[in-house]
Amino acid sequence: MESTKSKYVSKLVNELKPSGIRRFFDLAAGMEGVISLGVGEPDFVTPWHVRESAINSLEQGYTSYTPNAGLLELRQEIAYYMKNQFNVEYSPKEEIIVTVGASSAIDIAMRTILDPGDEVIVVEPCFVAYVPMVELAGGVAVQVQASKENDFKIQPDQLEAVITDKTKAIMLCSPNNPTGTMLSKHELEEIANLAKKYDLLIIADEIYAELAYDEEYTSMAAIEGMKERTILVSGFSKGFAMTGWRLGFVCSPPEISNAMLKVHQYALMCASTMAQYAAIEALKNGRPEVDEMIKSYRRRRNYIVQSFNEIGLECHNPGGAFYAFPSIKSTGLSSQEFAEQLLLKEGVAVVPGDVFGESGEGHIRCSYATSLEQLQEAIKRIKHFIENL
Ligand code: PMP
Repeated sequence: MESTKSKYVSKLVNELKPSGIRRFFDLAAGMEGVISLGVGEPDFVTPWHVRESAINSLEQGYTSYTPNAGLLELRQEIAYYMKNQFNVEYSPKEEIIVTVGASSAIDIAMRTILDPGDEVIVVEPCFVAYVPMVELAGGVAVQVQASKENDFKIQPDQLEAVITDKTKAIMLCSPNNPTGTMLSKHELEEIANLAKKYDLLIIADEIYAELAYDEEYTSMAAIEGMKERTILVSGFSKGFAMTGWRLGFVCSPPEISNAMLKVHQYALMCASTMAQYAAIEALKNGRPEVDEMIKSYRRRRNYIVQSFNEIGLECHNPGGAFYAFPSIKSTGLSSQEFAEQLLLKEGVAVVPGDVFGESGEGHIRCSYATSLEQLQEAIKRIKHFIENL
């Protein structure tokens, strides 16, 4: 889609750049035999019993709105899941809102906490929606760059250097899209100390929390003294392979949750009813499939990271999510050039790292949410591409 401007559109939206990922999807769409490592979504279909519970809900005629915050039974299951899986206790009635994907959770969080000109520190490379969502909510995104030298882990002194009296929150994502980097408990504690020292909120995007391959996952809200200042965003898209259902949730202290509910009820009313029934089933009985998917992603991660390093594209070992983020600096191409030429010459779609922020330049994002056979073929083609540069 072209980025055209219109007199009918607000200045803010006229200035908003379309996502850099789309261009590559559009390019790839017209080509045959393309292997896509571009999309950030599971290649698995939602398990049948989960789909069936949505079908059953339709058969029963459950087609009306749910409460604004979501079905109480679902919120109770989410509370149980958060306690069981991540050791954080949330009250289903006061601290959990079911949202339309993690996307709308981030959106309502920004709109709830920001006054015009308030600053949110956004750690890059990051999910392409954070900066626009801060700006659409009237805030100012202050971008800080996590560097390859630190395995894309932001250093506390980098954060401290940009905190001002306008800073309201730090936006964090672990495991990260696009780098796959996961922060350890100690690293989270260091960031938490800053949040406490400067009285800041942390918006913790934990959508990939299920997909942690080497270490046990620590939630920001599980860090001592942090539940009170964390807006925890999560959902069903990634770990439960439910992207198309558009279902997420957000957990936060009652005063923030009550305020977010006002925005949510006016903007969205409630999340899809049948999707909420499916999510109840996913949380109650979906564990075996989630565990199988995790095993499969781990195998693919091991394969792709080793292969990139073998063919000369240096790649750190990502602890989670389903992305590898190898460096392509040795080729002398920019990330845009690399991605475009790789697609046109070899039919492999990847995402250039610069779309995720300044420090993403010199890298490409490769999603390994695709079969091992496809990954093997992709690596063969990438190797051929590099050898013929
Ligand atoms: N956060 C991150 C880091 C993501 O990668 C994505 C999806 N690409 C989202 C949020 C949005 O997820 P959802 O489908 O739940 O809206």
